[in-house]
Amino acid sequence: MEILTKSPGQTKKIGEVLAKEILKTKLFGKALIIALEGDLGGGKTTFLQGFAKGLGIREKILSPTFVIVKKSKIQSAIWRTKFKNFYHIDCYRIEKPRDVSSLRLREIISNSQNVVAIEWSNRIRKILPKRTLTLKFYFVGKNKRKILIKNG
Ligand code: ADP
Ligand code: MG
Repeated sequence: MEILTKSPGQTKKIGEVLAKEILKTKLFGKALIIALEGDLGGGKTTFLQGFAKGLGIREKILSPTFVIVKKSKIQSAIWRTKFKNFYHIDCYRIEKPRDVSSLRLREIISNSQNVVAIEWSNRIRKILPKRTLTLKFYFVGKNKRKILIKNG
């Protein structure tokens, strides 16, 4: 599925709507993993601000360029029946497989209580399960972005 957005606000809204849609799926009993790829400035973090809002996250979602792994508590009562933690991970600085082990990423993505959103996920593609929901962001114009949603 391909979506064109014309503003940061619209991209956030798409994130929020996707969070609600995911709740209707049966993909539970395992960690929910969302991989975000594509252009720098493509809107990955902006999208996650809306997505986190949909999960009832109260903390501000920032570009975690320095903090590579950021954990927040899921507050939404309906989401809390399935998941407890939201992990926002940015793999931009990951270069070696050793970095992956030091971040305990394998542990995070295998805990069924976690929703895990991973920016620059292509750097750790090998450790992601097939069920990962992948979103690709393209810079189209000043305020235009294209989001490609694919399963796997
Ligand atoms: P990424 O995490 O992919 O590097 P960010 O979300 O951090 O991207 O940055 C996107 C930048 O582009 C923000 O400054 C945002 O305000 C701007 N922007 C302009 N139009 C859009 C849009 N339609 N969707 C998302 N971001 C947009
Ligand atoms: Mg970002």
